[in-house]
Amino acid sequence: MVEALKNIVGLENVLHDGAEKARFSHIWATDIPLVAKGVVFPQTTEQVSEALKLFNSHGQEVVIHGGLTNLVGGTQTTSNQWVLSLEKMNVIEEMDESAKTITAQAGVILEQLIETAAQKNLFLPLNFGAKGSAQIGGVIATNAGGMRVFRYGMTRTLVLGLEVVLPTGTVISSLKKIIKDNSGYDLKQLFIGAEGTLGVITKACLRLYEQPTSRYAALVGVQSFQEVVSLLRLMDKNLSGNLSSFELMWNATYCAATSVNIAQKSPLPQDYPFYVFIESLGNDLADDYVLFEGGLTRAAEKKIIVDAVLAQSKREVEKLWSIREDTHILRQSFVATQHFDISLPISVMDAEVASIVADLEAFPFVERVLPFGHIVDGNIHLIVGKKDTTQQNSKKINAIVYRNLKKHLGSVSAEHGIGLDKKDYLYTSKTSQEIALMKTLKQTLDPKNILNPNRIF
Ligand SMILES: Cc1cc2nc3c(=O)[nH]c(=O)nc-3n(C[C@H](O)[C@H](O)[C@H](O)COP(=O)(O)OP(=O)(O)OC[C@H]3O[C@@H](n4cnc5c(N)ncnc54)[C@H](O)[C@@H]3O)c2cc1C
Repeated sequence: MVEALKNIVGLENVLHDGAEKARFSHIWATDIPLVAKGVVFPQTTEQVSEALKLFNSHGQEVVIHGGLTNLVGGTQTTSNQWVLSLEKMNVIEEMDESAKTITAQAGVILEQLIETAAQKNLFLPLNFGAKGSAQIGGVIATNAGGMRVFRYGMTRTLVLGLEVVLPTGTVISSLKKIIKDNSGYDLKQLFIGAEGTLGVITKACLRLYEQPTSRYAALVGVQSFQEVVSLLRLMDKNLSGNLSSFELMWNATYCAATSVNIAQKSPLPQDYPFYVFIESLGNDLADDYVLFEGGLTRAAEKKIIVDAVLAQSKREVEKLWSIREDTHILRQSFVATQHFDISLPISVMDAEVASIVADLEAFPFVERVLPFGHIVDGNIHLIVGKKDTTQQNSKKINAIVYRNLKKHLGSVSAEHGIGLDKKDYLYTSKTSQEIALMKTLKQTLDPKNILNPNRIF
């Protein structure tokens, strides 16, 4: 196997015999050596195809590694598995300014794509805290969301073309730049959000937008959840389509975010029940400011908001926004954490989050529960800070967070996926018929179950 792999990708692109231990399976666990048979680093689609043919013919399990930022154990491995890393497939192949598309290999870091597009005044709207490490292949494999879903949709809506290698080695290439294509099944959708269970994404063509020329941001303090909802409607209406983000932090989370990180001083007093981060993106510097400030003024007049800080420069916008983006600092003060990204209808969110927090904080092994989220998409994140790491206690926490999802037709994963960590709870969001169909697809495309086995179900 090792010799055959070296023949495919070259000597220097295979790590094994202990050398793989210099790697790791998650960016938050760089001190824990990778457990695997070895790591292979293809540089071309053909090499991915040959490697998968080899793995498949031996019935060898293989786990795909992208930027290793997922939050569901998707890149964990065992000692009998190989790792296929996309790290060396990191070329941006084309930017088409007239079609407004960018085509890249799967291992390109998301932030690099964003910056490359910006150099041509084009805009890739994907934005989340891990953008400096996540690879576009991993972002597509997890159908990542982030902070601009309300206006631009999930990753899925930005993917125009995709190239994928099936577990058997067959290359399915459709790097189209067109938006409309009803020529039968839209096959790329099968692989977007499939968490690498159906194929290895090797290239993608993404849709770009005109780079906005105005960006305004504000942080506001709000007294009740009902007023948060009223504020959302008011700003959506008043910004004439410019509203691009509307992110909520509950008081405990805001206080933690602005107290843990000493560099991140709180721009507002820390005693409001809710804090909302609002972003407007538009194309007229002066008019957009009037709209944005006008919206906030109207909200203040109606007493929907009780306090606000409006960023006055690009640096201030980034600083304000970093309170919301740098949520990884929230985990640092706890012995252990559990992360949740549930979806709920906005109408039940307030009561549901309150009851989850109260019941979790009643456990002696739970220190704090920190809720925040992409409220406008019905997506709540919870970081549960714990005093221990026992499985038994983790399950008790899961049971409370997931207990009403089915009843409210919510989802166990708004954006992070299922991976290994949430498999037991897939049933809260999918019917048995849906799960059976998913298994049929997996069996059809990966009959030997070699690629990212045991993920999702
Ligand atoms: C601080 C932080 C903030 C985050 N915020 C958000 C957020 O706001 N919204 C959100 O949606 N997510 C968020 N995430 C998680 C997000 O899903 C991941 O950051 C990202 O989408 C995964 O990309 P990656 O390259 O790191 O993939 P990895 O973690 O390497 O892999 C993720 C999964 O995809 C598979 N995979 C990787 N590459 C490929 C490929 N080329 N082909 C097929 N399968 C592949 C892997 O096997 C694994 O199952 C956040 C994560 C962090 C650490």
